[in-house]
Parts: sequence; structure tokens; C-alpha cells
Amino acid sequence: MTDVPTGSVDPASALAALEKTPLERFVAPAKPSLVGLSRAELGDALAAIGVAERERKMRVQQVWHWLYLRGARAFAEMTNVAKPMRDALDAHYTLARPEVASEQVSVDGTRKWLLSLPATNPGEAPHLVECVYIPETDRGTLCLSSQVGCTLTCSFCHTGTQRLVRNLTPGEIAGQILVARDRLGDWVTAAGPREGSRLVSNIVMMGMGEPLYNFEAVRDALLIASDGDGLALSRRRITLSTSGVVPNIHRTGDEIGVMLAVSLHAVRDDLRNELVPLNRKYPIKELLKACRDYPGASNARRITFEYVMLKGINDSLADAKELVRLLKGIPAKINLIPFNPWPGTRYDCSDWEQIEKFSDVVFNAGYSSPVRTPRGRDILAACGQLKSATEKLSARERLALRAMAMTD
Ligand code: SAH
Ligand code: SF4
Repeated sequence: MTDVPTGSVDPASALAALEKTPLERFVAPAKPSLVGLSRAELGDALAAIGVAERERKMRVQQVWHWLYLRGARAFAEMTNVAKPMRDALDAHYTLARPEVASEQVSVDGTRKWLLSLPATNPGEAPHLVECVYIPETDRGTLCLSSQVGCTLTCSFCHTGTQRLVRNLTPGEIAGQILVARDRLGDWVTAAGPREGSRLVSNIVMMGMGEPLYNFEAVRDALLIASDGDGLALSRRRITLSTSGVVPNIHRTGDEIGVMLAVSLHAVRDDLRNELVPLNRKYPIKELLKACRDYPGASNARRITFEYVMLKGINDSLADAKELVRLLKGIPAKINLIPFNPWPGTRYDCSDWEQIEKFSDVVFNAGYSSPVRTPRGRDILAACGQLKSATEKLSARERLALRAMAMTD
């Protein structure tokens, strides 16, 4: 396959390559998993093993319940499904979710799972993606990946330097939620829901990949996540972050109805072209128009604008003022993200004082401007640091990162 250029390549050719980059194929296993199928697809899967039409709706409901409320990992657990049908299901399907290749726990409690997905060709190394869980006092946020790697090449993002790119299936995206609930013991059991609130209460599509370049799969997975009879996460607690794939922004509001976050990062096209090369295709003006028209945006459902703080690049107070001017009229919040360093990057994080001054300008203009606390830096779990172990860090690089995380 063609190499995806890294951030050091000139953005125009990076963008040209973006359109040419062939995606790796997903190869379905001989015995497919039922995880990630819509109700209609689940109905078809049951029909294929001879479940009579009059029974199908009820059986779909039962399987759905076991999958997404109880977290069943084997058909044998589905005690209200007749044994012959469980056996038939078992003969043709699985309840497989992505396999956990490793689990890391940060000094701050953040957990990162490296997940292994089937390779394109038999005998090849599996594809690896990451999924991160961030516990906070009032919520637990799960950060999901939508692609192995990313075809885009934002110059400050570690994921963008990964070569292999494959779209995840709906089952692999929704499956990350199942894996997290498995590992955290966050399922409803026969004794009822666990005490206290649910550990996974929020979802952000902010892991590896550009979700709007894998729109259908992301949509189908998020519809499962928000289905009231199963995982039942409110759409207001699901946020999709995009680097600005304008044609799919409206569809996100229309077809998924989740909260939108936009990776803006610069207020001028010349700089944004460099930081987010996709800007050459969809410049700031078009992007902001799509935000103005985002279905369901209101003061109660604001769009988040993400802005990574890069020292001496985009962090002047003039930038802050221009940011406020640009966002006028859009129900917005601004999320300032301290740049998370990774080995080999040419950027530094802005000084804390500068971030505070920048934040004051934004705040005084009436926007909430929380600074995102970096979480899990020591295990490379923070924003933009995700890159699977296909290209492993040396032990020394890991130590350097851990040291950075401890001195914050
Ligand atoms: N591809 C999507 C979602 C994944 S990235 C997008 O770009 O929006 C999630 C967020 O992390 C984005 O706002 C992204 O710009 C930001 N990010 C990427 N690399 C980063 C880094 N090294 N430090 C801080 N934030 C970063
Ligand atoms: Fe891809 Fe988002 Fe990273 Fe850009 S910031 S390279 S779109 S994952």
C-alpha cells in the first residue's frame, strides 16, 4: 500500500495522497459476531438460521437485551432463549468483541486498552487500535477509535503518522464499549444494576481516526450506543469530534443526533492548512457555516470547538480575539487542549501562563473555556497520542513520557 505521509510532508501533497490512500480491507471471520448489527440485521441473521418470522421480533429483543444490557459473552448465558436456538446461534455466530491485547493503567487512573482486530490477510499481524477510559468524579468517559490509524495528517497528531489505515466496522466500534464494560464490571447482572452510577456514562469519538471518514459505521455504532433498550447512553452524552469533514457534519446531526466537537485549532486558513491539511478542501468559512447549520445546535446543546495550544504557533492573544470574532452567532464552547507531546514532534505546548491569558480573552467574551486536563499522558493515552504498538516506542521514550506526565 502507499505510505500515508507524515506531518513533515508539504500539506498539498499530503492532501493529494489522502484521496489516493487505499484503505485496508476488513475480512469478516467465517463465524461472524452479532455485536454491532442493527435490529434489522439481527433479524436477518436469525432468519438465516431458520427462526420463524412470527418469533423473530421477540428473539431479536431477547438477544439485544443479553448483548447490550447484560453483556453476555456466550450464548449459553441467554437463559430465556430455548436451548435448541442457543445451539443454532452458537453453531453459526459468536458474541466476539475486539480482543484485549494489553491494558495499561495510568498514574491518574486512566486506562488504555490496546485492541486487536482481524488482519487483512490470513497470517498477517492483527490490526491494533486503542480505546481509553477516563474516570472523573461525576462521570466516566470512554474515548473510542473509528479507524486503525487515520488518513489525515494533522501535523501535531501522533495518530496521523501511522501508516496502516482501516475503517472499523460498527461491531468493532460498539465492541469497544462492550470491552470497557467487561473490564470495568459495568454490566447489569441478575442481581440488578451495579450500585452507584454507571462507570461508562459518556462517549467521545476522539480516539484514532476521523469518524466522519467512516460515517456509516460510526452512525450505526452510535445508534446502538444510544438505543434505550440496551446501552442507553443519552445522545447528549455522546460527542463526535471531527477535523472538519463538512459534507458529513449535517448528516451527523440529522442521522445520529449527537453532540458535535470541531477541531478548529487555528483562526486563519494559512495556518490551519498547515495544522489540519483537510482545511485545504474545507476552509474555515465553509466549516463554520456547517456549524451554524448543525441540526439541533442551541444554547443548551452547544458545539465544542477544540483548540490545541501550540507554543508560538496559534496561541497569541490576537488569535484568541479572532477566535471569539469567528464564532460569533454560533452556540459554542471552546475547549483549550494543552498540546500533548510525542516523540519526534516539532511542537511544544504553550506555557501555562499563556494558556491562562488566552483562556481569559475567550472567557471574557462570554464563552466557557475549560482547559482540558491532560489525562493518561504517561501511557500515551492523551489526545492525539494514540498510535498502536505496530510502531512501538522504545523503553527510553516511555520513561521520558512518564517523566513528563509526572511533572505536570
Ligand atoms: N479525528 C478527529 C477525532 C480524533 S482526535 C479529530 O481530529 O477531531 C481528538 C482531538 O485531539 C482533536 O481535537 C485533535 O485535534 C486533538 N489532538 C490531536 N493530536 C493532539 C495532541 N498531540 N495534543 C493535543 N490534542 C491533540
Ligand atoms: Fe486524524 Fe484527528 Fe489526528 Fe487529524 S487530529 S490526524 S483527523 S486523528
